[in-house]
Amino acid sequence: MVGRQYVIGNWKMYKMAREAVQYIEKLVPLVERCEANIFLAVPFTAISACFQAAKNANILIGAQNMSDAKEGAFTGEIGSLMLKEAGASFILLGHSERRHVFGESDEFIHRKVIRALQDDLQPILCVGETLAEREAGETEKALKRQIFTALKQIPKEEAPKVILAYEPVWAIGTGKTASAKMAGDAHAFCRACLAEIFGKKIAGSIPILYGGSVKPDNTKELISQEDIDGVLVGGASLDPESFSKIVHHCEKKK
Ligand code: PEP
Repeated sequence: MVGRQYVIGNWKMYKMAREAVQYIEKLVPLVERCEANIFLAVPFTAISACFQAAKNANILIGAQNMSDAKEGAFTGEIGSLMLKEAGASFILLGHSERRHVFGESDEFIHRKVIRALQDDLQPILCVGETLAEREAGETEKALKRQIFTALKQIPKEEAPKVILAYEPVWAIGTGKTASAKMAGDAHAFCRACLAEIFGKKIAGSIPILYGGSVKPDNTKELISQEDIDGVLVGGASLDPESFSKIVHHCEKKK
C-alpha cells in the first residue's frame, strides 16, 4: 500500500469542452478537502479548458493516448509535448480499448512509456487479461508479458513515476467486476512482477489501481485489498456525483 489513494476518471470519447468545464465546476466543491489523488483523463479537445477550470483545485488533468514519437510526419497523431502544452500532466497508456480495438502491441506501448518518461508526462500503464486468457488459466502469463515488455529498460530511478492499472478486459464497460479476492490476487501478482524488475522497495512505492466497472457501491470492498492503491473509473466517472462518491470511499484508506 502506497499511502494516499489514487482515483482516476477516464472519460473516453465523451464530453465537449463546455460540458467538461461544467463537470469540473460541479466536482470541485464535492472533493475540495479530499485526501486522495484525483486525476481526470479527458478528450484532447477538453484538456486546455479542463486545466484552466481545475487550476486551483486538487485535480490533475491528463490524456488517454499519445504517439510514441517526439514529432514528425505522423498525420493525425498527437505528441507528449503537445499534451503538456495543453495542460496534461499524465497519460493513460495501453488501455484495453487501445490494445484490442486499435491493435496496439506490447512493444508499441513500451515505446510510449519511454516517450512519456522522457518528456515528463506521468505514465499510467494499463494491463489486463482477456476473458479467453482468464478461462485458459493464463492471467498471470498475460500480465507478466504486458508488464515486463512495457517496463523494460526503464532506469530504477524513473520507476516510481509510473502508475500501474490492472484492468481485466472482461470487466471494462461490462458491469462485471472482479471479486475483491480476484482483484487482490492479480494486484499481488503485479506487485511481484514489479519487484522482479525494480526490487521490492521500489515495487512497494508504485501505485497499482484496479479498473473494470468500478461504481460507488463496489469501491469500498475493492480498495480494502492490501495491494489495491486506488481505482481507474470509466463509466461511473462521467457523472461528478458518482465520481465524488468513489473518491470519498477511497480517501478512507490512507
Ligand atoms: C476504463 O475505461 O478504464 C474502465 C475501467 O471503464 P469502466 O469503469 O466503464 O469499466
